[in-house]
Formats: sequence, C-alpha cells, structure tokens
Amino acid sequence: DLTLPDEDGRALLLSLREREQTARLPVLVTSGLRGSLPKAECFALGAEAFFEKPLDFDGVATAAAAHLQRATDFAREARRDALTGLANRAAFEDAFDRVAASSRRNKTRLALGLLDLDHFKAVNDAYGHVMGDEVLRRATQVVARSLRASDLPARCGGEEFSVLFPNTSVRGAARALEHAAAALRRELFVMADGRSFRVTFSAGVVEVADDESLEDAVSQADLLLYMAKAAGRD
Ligand code: GH3
Ligand code: MG
Ligand code: MG
Repeated sequence: DLTLPDEDGRALLLSLREREQTARLPVLVTSGLRGSLPKAECFALGAEAFFEKPLDFDGVATAAAAHLQRATDFAREARRDALTGLANRAAFEDAFDRVAASSRRNKTRLALGLLDLDHFKAVNDAYGHVMGDEVLRRATQVVARSLRASDLPARCGGEEFSVLFPNTSVRGAARALEHAAAALRRELFVMADGRSFRVTFSAGVVEVADDESLEDAVSQADLLLYMAKAAGRD
C-alpha cells in the first residue's frame, strides 16, 4: 500500500528494488490515491501492477498468481542450460553443496565425473556450428538417458559436462559412464547430405572425500580426463 503508517510505499518499493535479494521480487501496489502521477511513479520504480481502491480482489489475485508463476519460471530458466536443458554450472554448484552435505550426514559415498566430447571442433568444422549444436543436444540426451534418475548431470562449459553420482562408489560411477559411452558410440549422426559419423567422449571420475571442495574434486577429475584424452580418447 502506498500510504503506510510509518513510511511511504514508494520508499519501500525503492529499497526493495535496490537490494539484490529483492530486486526481482514482483510488487503489486494498492492505493487509495487517485490520478496518474502515483501510478506513474510506481511503474517508474519497478512495480508490476497498480490497483486502485476499492480493490477488485479477483483482479489482484489473478495478477498475483500470474506474477508468482512468472517469477518461478524465470528462476528455473536461470538455472538451466538453454541448449541442452541440463542444469547449468550455477545449479550444479548448489546441487553439489546439498548432495555433499547429505552424503556426509548419511555416510554415503559420492562420485563426480567430468566428460568432454572428443574432437568436437572437428564436428563444427565439418558440418557447421548449427549442426554442432544439434549434435551436442542429441549427444547430451543419449548420455543423460543412460544415467540413473538420481544422478545429476550438468553442462559446465561448451562441450563439457559434469555428473554427480550420489550414493555411488567411484567404480560404480565409472561403470555408469562406460554405459553412457557405449550408448553414445551406438548413436549414428546422419546429416542431410547423407554424411554420417559417431561421437565419443572421454571422462575422468573421482570419489569426493568428506569435506572436499567442488574445486578440488573437479581438478582431480580434470587430471584424469586429460589422461583419458592423452591415452587415445573414448
Ligand atoms: P578434444 O578431444 O581434445 O576435447 O578436442 P575438442 O575439439 O573437443 O576440444 P577443444 O577444446 O579444442 O574444442 C572444443 C570445441 O567444442 C570448440 C567448439 O568448436 C566446440 N563447442 C564448444 N561449445 C559449443 C557449442 O555450444 N556449440 C557448438 N556447436 N560447438 C561448441
Ligand atoms: Mg573441451
Ligand atoms: Mg572436447
């Protein structure tokens, strides 16, 4: 409400918009003030809607529901990689904190895998970047589908992926990645001009020790990934 006992609603709106945590919070303003000026001020300060009193409660409820839904969709989209639909790096980092804490609490094992598609630059060079994107999307699907529902894959860079394996030994995670590699190896990519090829990945997988940071686990897995590349890829 614009007229508050101890503050002006516009000052509240301004302070909400200035704070990082509330900057994108949807704000619906109600007021008994008439005329276009208070309304214009509120929109300029970032309000989503303005309702004059007496309130049309159905209208307020509908607007509130729509803005909540949009805010939820927006938050979800911000955590997803647009090309592949997988979790993005930020979402993966949050998931790691949650899963690592729960593994510590429940004394279960946790494994982390890093995957990198082999010679992917050659795919782009031969078929173009648009086809490269398509190949990336389909390769992701094949790999993600071969994992368990409890495994957490994410796209952490261009053609690089990370997977968290809760409640899994490093040996179990390696086996899961071998299944994924086999599934991808079976997939034939056929181009419109009839050319066809297959795609492989290399990976490194480590067990995450208690209290080990994501950075440390990733850098160890990265070292193993590098060795897999050097040893011939796939
Ligand atoms: P390696 O087996 O050593 O990993 O070879 P590579 O060619 O995959 O490795 P490199 O890191 O040299 O190149 C990665 C290439 O992946 C660069 C770029 O052409 C391609 N790439 C990365 N992200 C995307 C993307 O989002 N879309 C497409 N189409 N290509 C991408
Ligand atoms: Mg790479
Ligand atoms: Mg690569």
